[in-house]
Amino acid sequence: MAAGLDQATLSETIHALREFAARRLPDQKLIELDTQDEFPEAIVREMCGAGLGIQLFFIPEAYGGMGAGAFDLYRICEQMARIDIGIATGVLATFLGSDPIRVGGTEAQKRRWMTKIAEEGALMAYGATEPAAGSDLGALRSVAVPVSQDGQLVGYKLSGAKQWISNGGVADVYTILAQAPGGPSWFVVERDAPGLGHGKPEDKHGIRASNTAALSLDEVYVDADRLIGGSEGKGLLQAQAVFGYTRLMVAAFGLGGGWAALDRAIAYSTTRIQAGGPLSEKQGYTHKLIVPHVARLEASRAFMEYVAERLDAGEEGLTTEGAIAKYLATESANRAADASIQALGGYGYTKEYMVEKVKRDVRITTIYEGTSEIMEMTISRDRWQLHLKTRGRHYQDEAQKLLALHATHPQVGADIAALGLRALAAVLEHARVCRLTRHQHILLRLGELCVHAECAAVFCQRAARAADGTLAEKADHRFAPPALAALARIFAREAAELAGGAGLRWMWAASSSSADLLTLEAGVALPAIHRAQLGLLADMDLVANTLYDRAPAAPASPL
Ligand SMILES: Cc1cc2nc3c(=O)[nH]c(=O)nc-3n(C[C@H](O)[C@H](O)[C@H](O)COP(=O)(O)OP(=O)(O)OC[C@H]3O[C@@H](n4cnc5c(N)ncnc54)[C@H](O)[C@@H]3O)c2cc1C
Repeated sequence: MAAGLDQATLSETIHALREFAARRLPDQKLIELDTQDEFPEAIVREMCGAGLGIQLFFIPEAYGGMGAGAFDLYRICEQMARIDIGIATGVLATFLGSDPIRVGGTEAQKRRWMTKIAEEGALMAYGATEPAAGSDLGALRSVAVPVSQDGQLVGYKLSGAKQWISNGGVADVYTILAQAPGGPSWFVVERDAPGLGHGKPEDKHGIRASNTAALSLDEVYVDADRLIGGSEGKGLLQAQAVFGYTRLMVAAFGLGGGWAALDRAIAYSTTRIQAGGPLSEKQGYTHKLIVPHVARLEASRAFMEYVAERLDAGEEGLTTEGAIAKYLATESANRAADASIQALGGYGYTKEYMVEKVKRDVRITTIYEGTSEIMEMTISRDRWQLHLKTRGRHYQDEAQKLLALHATHPQVGADIAALGLRALAAVLEHARVCRLTRHQHILLRLGELCVHAECAAVFCQRAARAADGTLAEKADHRFAPPALAALARIFAREAAELAGGAGLRWMWAASSSSADLLTLEAGVALPAIHRAQLGLLADMDLVANTLYDRAPAAPASPL
């Protein structure tokens, strides 16, 4: 992974995106595209070509790109999603489409196809999903039949069907996953290849400004040099190798979408007068519809920045961490967008105010690039192994580190996050002793608990870095250290409550007797978790005051 952009280039890029959106994609235009179910091909080509050059950030410098790092790309993806997740999907599809080449291609393939994207702004599509192979790509049915001449392999004929392919009807170049004799393999196919066809654009719930189409492949011939990496059977590994990275980008889509909705709700609530004052001054409004969603989105940002920094430091894989980032960001974004509709009341339910569209758009982020349930499974399986391998020490050790952090930074909620991690460790150990993960539902619920407990821990660490002034320059700096610490405390309380409360609930739910459950209750320390809620309301007040840029007020009227 490249070292990435310098701070000035990243800021200029984000500024250029905002300026482009203001000029070419004002709200009225976005509503029109959504209503007419139209993919603005010219605009996406302008963004991915000479107009804005976004594609260059996804391409390594060696192939004519700018070689942005994971941190840069998360910031760029968040910004694109703030504009429109459908259009952002049209841009990201090129990045996804080129990924198998970037991770698995030969030098000649990288030079040929990456350069084509950089120089010509070619749009790409990533063709993995099939009608019968979605979450389970192993059920792949498309085939690649070798073609030989004089005993020499010269090419392949690809046949099959692909489903839900972003840019499927408009791409210049496709990467297609098909079953070759040696196993699943990626192939590069150009749009005019005889036998390649696409269906009409899907009529979707959201991201209606993106093009999604089925593909049909009827003995599409490609030369042997289109087999990515030059050897068969590496397709699923190549797809998996980039999950840490690509799921981070979809997490950024969730973050951008969630904030796009919340920022509208925040602005609206300052001007909407009910019961003699603006909604922004009603605690029952802000503390339900705004503040908890800010805390969850910022917790997911903390985890995303943590993953991005690790990727930029050269760590590979990080599949589980990418899944954690995607899960929390996209689930939180859906909740935030839904609350934003509520926050605008009847106006929120109409098209003109945009939050309704954002809610429909952001819905896709818990489905594509791996559904939330697949994320839960990925996370829980991995952390379960870690629990077994460390004989139950993993989360206990993480809790110890947080207590050390609490000693130096008592304001960031690390002691509360530690309570959550300890409760989680106790729940996992109980599940091991009683063999409860044989129930798939329990395994997946544990995944959800792991996400919250880990994100709470990382959020406390981020708040501590902010307090020390050591947050990355490229990080988002919207919240000053005291507000960030309050947000970290709010989220740590929620995560601890979930690990203890829901953890115990599911352990009871899966058991047939109360044996060992009373010991578990002592280990989970629910009363301590409840006591840690002390100060929650004051923290929520602090965050609301920060969001609305106002001084702490005397207690407001309950109306
Ligand atoms: C708008 C859009 C754009 C897309 N773009 C692309 C693209 O560019 N390229 C591409 O290749 N694909 C693309 N996809 C496909 C997307 O990645 C898949 O839809 C997704 O992976 C889920 O697969 P599926 O739709 O077949 O659902 P399924 O896998 O059938 O899942 C249906 C439901 O069952 C759950 N489920 C599945 N397996 C299990 C299990 N083992 N245990 C418990 N629950 C399970 C899922 O979580 C989900 O809730 C796109 C999809 C959409 C809708």
